[in-house]
Amino acid sequence: MDTIIRQARLRGRDGTWDIGISADRITAVAERLPDEAAREVDAAGNLVLPTYVNGHIHLDKCFLQETMRPNKDYTFGECLELTWEHKARYTTEDILERAGRAIREGLLNGTTVFRAFADVDNLGKLRGLEGLLALRERWQGTAHIEVVAFPQEGILRDPGTAELLEEAMRLGADVVGGLPWFELLDEDARAHIDVCFALAKRYDKDIHMLVDDTDNPLSRSLEYLAVKTLREGYQGRVSASHCGALAAYNEVHAHKVIDLLKQANVSISSNPHISLVVQGRYDQEPIRRGITRVKQFWQHGVNVFSSQDDVADPFYPFGRNDQQEVVAYLCHTAHLASPSEIEAAFDFVTYNAARALRLPDYGLEPGCRANLNVLAAPTLREGVRFQQPPRVVMREGKVLARSRPRSTSCITRSGCL
Ligand SMILES: [Zn+2]
Repeated sequence: MDTIIRQARLRGRDGTWDIGISADRITAVAERLPDEAAREVDAAGNLVLPTYVNGHIHLDKCFLQETMRPNKDYTFGECLELTWEHKARYTTEDILERAGRAIREGLLNGTTVFRAFADVDNLGKLRGLEGLLALRERWQGTAHIEVVAFPQEGILRDPGTAELLEEAMRLGADVVGGLPWFELLDEDARAHIDVCFALAKRYDKDIHMLVDDTDNPLSRSLEYLAVKTLREGYQGRVSASHCGALAAYNEVHAHKVIDLLKQANVSISSNPHISLVVQGRYDQEPIRRGITRVKQFWQHGVNVFSSQDDVADPFYPFGRNDQQEVVAYLCHTAHLASPSEIEAAFDFVTYNAARALRLPDYGLEPGCRANLNVLAAPTLREGVRFQQPPRVVMREGKVLARSRPRSTSCITRSGCL
């Protein structure tokens, strides 16, 4: 064996365990591995998880907060407007620098998989996409990056975008994006979804759309997406992010839509910190949280995952590309606080996200890829409490990052505790 991780705690098992790794694979998990290895990592009773999967992040826009004029009200329209001034000026070098910083942050925080959205429209044309394709190339072997061709300005309301999306797929985009709810009419939203499916089928690619990202209960593209998925036989290959309008539907209609999504095996990404900032902006008190029905989805067996989405860009001023922080927000926003609910929240950034992205050999069983985090916490609850970066981040058997826990000592008048 090349590496043995000693004294690891594993979810769902009592005691501590050793994990044996040969080349890029986990080869053994046992209470005590007698073998010797070239390298030993002492997990010291901390939890070991598979590395985090970030299934939705806008790496073409990250860190624009550093140079843009400030937001005034954080309505979706204003957030969008602020990007317009920038994307006409994107260059591959600019994107490589900003996105590279976000990838480094993500790796330090234990994420090795990023599904990155690139705006494709008449403002930036294919500049964002070319930047992220170069990023994918540059980080090959260190991070798994998927590039989504994303029509941020719509398809029908931004004529010419369908052709640009086609060109994006020819250039090598991995996933067809979509933003149907942003179209001006319901029939346009449906036509938008139709364009995306036709493209995905032509290139045999998966689909990931941002759907009904509004509090408006009249925004109803999610049910059409589910039905279209069933009719096209695309079950298991479609993801939808946000879906905030579903929270505003009446219970009868919401149940119908949730059942359709379950049948269609559509995965749902809720990125609650973004919704907390951008949604509810027209509400006078009480102000809604803006997230979709996370707990209901989970209880109905819909595959839910959760993602960083934005890092210091016009849509969200904060973020450190840390999926453990995302879990913390999710636990608060979606009322996930009991032990089984905290377990579910960690599934949302690990196993469920891997299922949405159809990542092969993901997990901690023998035969899986040796992509794992040694947390600086013995339990998931403490992971959420302290949000320390993992002590060790490993990808395909190689150590990518090591972090020391932040000090927990306290200075008092009588000295240092
Ligand atoms: Zn997004």
